[in-house]
Amino acid sequence: MSKKSIRVLLLVEDNPGDARLLREMFNEQGAHNTELIHVGSVGDAEQYLAKSAVDIIVLDLGLPDADGMEAVRRTHTAAPRVPLVVLTGLDDESVAAQALQEGAQDYLIKGEIDARGLLRSLRYAVERKIAEEALFLETERAQVTLNSIGDAVVCTDISGNISFLNLVAERMTGWTSLEAAGRPMAEVFRILDATSLETTPNPMEMAAAQDRTVHLPSNCILIRRGGYEIAIEGSVSPIHDREGQVIGAVNVFNDVSAARAMALQMAHSAQHDYLTGLPNRMLVNDRVKQAIVLASRHMKKVAVLFLDLDGFKHINDSLGHQTGDKLLQSIAKRLVDCVRFSDTVSRQGGDEFVVLLSEMEHSEDAAITARRMLSAVAEAHSIDQHDLHVTTSIGVSVYPDDGPDAETLVKNADTAMYQAKENGRQNYQFFKPAMNVRAVERQSIEESLRRALERQEFALHYQPKIDLKTGEITGAEALLRWTHPTRGLISPAEFIPVAEDCGLILPISKWVLREACKQARAWVDAGLPPVTMAVNVSAMDFRDDNFLERVFAVLSETGLDPQFLELELTESVLMKRAESAASVLQTLRAKGVQVAVDDFGTGYSSLSYLRKFPINALKIDQSFVHQITTTPDDTAIVTAVISMGRSLKLRVVAEGVETQEELAFLQDLQCDEAQGFYFGRPMPPKEFAGLLKSGISKAAVLVHS
Ligand code: C2E
Ligand code: MG
Ligand code: MG
Repeated sequence: MSKKSIRVLLLVEDNPGDARLLREMFNEQGAHNTELIHVGSVGDAEQYLAKSAVDIIVLDLGLPDADGMEAVRRTHTAAPRVPLVVLTGLDDESVAAQALQEGAQDYLIKGEIDARGLLRSLRYAVERKIAEEALFLETERAQVTLNSIGDAVVCTDISGNISFLNLVAERMTGWTSLEAAGRPMAEVFRILDATSLETTPNPMEMAAAQDRTVHLPSNCILIRRGGYEIAIEGSVSPIHDREGQVIGAVNVFNDVSAARAMALQMAHSAQHDYLTGLPNRMLVNDRVKQAIVLASRHMKKVAVLFLDLDGFKHINDSLGHQTGDKLLQSIAKRLVDCVRFSDTVSRQGGDEFVVLLSEMEHSEDAAITARRMLSAVAEAHSIDQHDLHVTTSIGVSVYPDDGPDAETLVKNADTAMYQAKENGRQNYQFFKPAMNVRAVERQSIEESLRRALERQEFALHYQPKIDLKTGEITGAEALLRWTHPTRGLISPAEFIPVAEDCGLILPISKWVLREACKQARAWVDAGLPPVTMAVNVSAMDFRDDNFLERVFAVLSETGLDPQFLELELTESVLMKRAESAASVLQTLRAKGVQVAVDDFGTGYSSLSYLRKFPINALKIDQSFVHQITTTPDDTAIVTAVISMGRSLKLRVVAEGVETQEELAFLQDLQCDEAQGFYFGRPMPPKEFAGLLKSGISKAAVLVHS
């Protein structure tokens, strides 16, 4: 604190003797630097103070124009920042004490004053006033600061009662500082845990008791006066007195509602599927884990159902993604309606859902839910003026029988779902360990398939097609052969579906097409009789946007005349993209490429539908051809197909002809062409070239005609 010398002293004293006495004391103490101004009344003092500055005022309490307290008040008002010392008689000490409350710094009792004491007490009065001013400024500064910061500040005294709230705290708690003052902390600052909604321990008490900064519990909410909840974050620190004793605490906190809402939103979207709002793969995995813990404790079961929609792709492809999305949403709702509140329906992605049934008594309970889901999904979904029909296949795995953890359960339910698909879809299958063997096999096929192209493990074999009138070879069907490094020859029926599933079919098909066209061109170049080269096209090839481009590129690259290429497509491939299929086929026809419908009779078998497509040939599936001899009475279909095909001016090709009997029958029905072991098995190119050179033994073919 700065020492301030007293340069001007104003003495307000009506008694000249007392005034003289004081002046003498000053002189005695050698306080020559102090100028003593003497006035005789409060009125004179007011006049003087209005014009001039003084460093201290000494005021007698028995003045003619103002008595006692009034004199103090008036003088203090006239110079509020000047230290004031009052002079009083022995008998009115109580008045002097009151004067202190009114703003006086000190009092002197007449008759007890000695020169040294007088000066000391005046100097102290000045110092005290300076300190008081500084404290006022400090408090003022703190107050303004506290009210202008964005954080809320609440202070309590040692007993935990509120002593101060800044403006933000007032706004957030709903209490004014005045109302709150003196009330227990817990009344004004009510906080709960946001999740449990339980009262959290009072952090102010903790900070004070432990004498350290305490953070407010994470995830805590403040209950504003009136019940409104605000998410807050903050910390409480103890306040100390000079001796280091804790005398209270200050709590600084802020509103994190927006940030917490954002965090919640982010956590929610990280765990939920945006389309259906269902839990996603991550969250359901978590819940399965929890369910397993509970089930093992309570000797219960947990079931995981893996659902995959049947034919959803078709709807998505033909009606568009928006309709597909709405269908998924509708299915999600129905699935949720099939389970208890405590169960979880999740979307894995695409058209796959995983359902967790927790705390089950019997495995059969899962079957009941599965059946309910099968029929719920199968009911028509009315979307965008369409009545959409879709079914689902479900695989079920049960804890603890089918796996010890979430991953295994989901994986095994998935495997069982595959089995349900193979069993004809729209059914459910419980997982059996034997299924895994197949799944593992499939997995290993997929792995080696990925390397098969670069390791050149593929080859094409060619099977002849024979004109049943002339016995001439009209064409070759290119059939893919894969020699697996350890397993040997693997049938295309086994690996093509795997290749389709894992997307490897595109590069493989590309290789087949190029290889077959190259081969056909090579035979022409070698002067062999030209034949049509038939290449099988899978659904995925046909759906690919670059399909046509790829075909034409290979044709021009290999130089094969387009009319010698025939693409074999199954009915289902055509029907799945009926609208675009027609235009793709049109383009092919315009270029001269031929198109045959493969395996006819196993799919929709709708000739009237096929009429819409520009196709060249129908290949009757071998199962019908075999019927000719196995169930001779049941030849109606083959007969009908051949005659209808002819009426549509299509070339009719019989597949899988193995016996002379079958041949004879087909010739009777005037079937155009045939293909089968009877004429030749699929064979390597060299062998086929030999066959082209020599021709099929006419005798074998024409035996009947
Ligand atoms: P697919 O196109 O119907 O081919 C005819 C299948 O019948 C061939 O089987 C052939 O070997 C077999 N076969 C021919 N004559 C007879 C017979 O007299 N009796 C019997 N029992 N079978 C006969 P493979 O080569 O095993 O091919 C099976 C299927 O795999 C093919 O059926 C075709 O759908 C598919 N596939 C073959 N190669 C390819 C390919 O390069 N690309 C695509 N996408 N699929 C292919
Ligand atoms: Mg074929
Ligand atoms: Mg076929």
